[in-house]
Amino acid sequence: MKALVCGAGGFIGGHLVKRLKDDGYWVRGVDVKEPEFAETEADEFLLLDLREPDQCAEAVTVDGNFDHVYQLAADMGGMGFIHSAECEIMRNNAFINLSMVHAASQAGVGRYFFSSSVCIYRDMEVEEPELTEDDAYPAFPDNEYGWEKLYAERVAQAYSRNTGLKVRIARFQNCYGPQGTWRGGREKAPAAICRKVAEVPGQSGTIDVWGNGSAVRSYTYVSDMVDGIVRLTRSDVEGPVNIGSPEYVTVAELVATVAEVAGKDIEPRYIEGPVGVQSRNFSHARIESLGWRAEVSLRDGIARTYPWIDDQVREVSEPVP
Ligand code: NAD
Repeated sequence: MKALVCGAGGFIGGHLVKRLKDDGYWVRGVDVKEPEFAETEADEFLLLDLREPDQCAEAVTVDGNFDHVYQLAADMGGMGFIHSAECEIMRNNAFINLSMVHAASQAGVGRYFFSSSVCIYRDMEVEEPELTEDDAYPAFPDNEYGWEKLYAERVAQAYSRNTGLKVRIARFQNCYGPQGTWRGGREKAPAAICRKVAEVPGQSGTIDVWGNGSAVRSYTYVSDMVDGIVRLTRSDVEGPVNIGSPEYVTVAELVATVAEVAGKDIEPRYIEGPVGVQSRNFSHARIESLGWRAEVSLRDGIARTYPWIDDQVREVSEPVP
């Protein structure tokens, strides 16, 4: 089996390459940049800009054909980035998604996986009943990143209807783990909180946290996300599928979990900032029908992630000898 992973230099793409290698695939990784934190495990890694149609055509050209194409390339980041880079996000991601699905269909690949996001859903009230995949409509995403994802889902589905391309679409909830962006403005909440706690000198201190701590989220450990991606791609399930942990916590609880894992006494100082939606609660019945379960609790996932971010913080703060 041959797989192409677009966005293989990034966080989830890098972990997906490793999983596919473990499963015995021949893997080509493609990204506009080299992997930042670890050597790629792909058999072949091409530096390509997937906004360009001819570079997408190059990405999908291989002896034989690709059985699976995983499209995870995106210009993306946490809430701070999503709110400050609306034009880049809408333009770059639309170009990538239009060009890649077209190239994949022209090449006649076996299956095309697209990484969408639960950002396509509207905001929710705390304790509101679960949204199913069909509740995406009438559409009212909270941000432009979500609107582009919804558009890209529809483009992929149109190619599926009109060209016979077999498309699988996952809507990811927040994903975290080692080798994810942890600084620079694109990091998401779990990595940002781990970094801030790691940066506190000694055993106690205060960290700034956007909002008032009451926003409800779920955070999915990267190995669970990757397992959902491969199960869905190999399945017969058509239409979008939510993938995420059913363990919902407040941002305040996330901070407390990181502090406990770090063994530090941390006081959050809540400040103005781009928080995003107030609450989340999604149905996972579709992905669970494929035997998928979130295996890693937030406490265990943070216990695997915090030491890696702590090491990164120390590496950049220690003077080079
Ligand atoms: P990431 O930023 O770590 O990886 C995305 C990769 O895409 C990066 O390595 C980037 O260089 C690459 N890329 C950007 N523009 C490109 C271009 N023009 N050509 C080629 N490569 C390009 O992000 P991630 O967290 O691994 O996310 C992977 C996918 O999952 C994205 O589509 C993202 O929107 C989606 N997603 C992620 C989350 C999450 O919590 N991480 C949640 C919902 C959806």
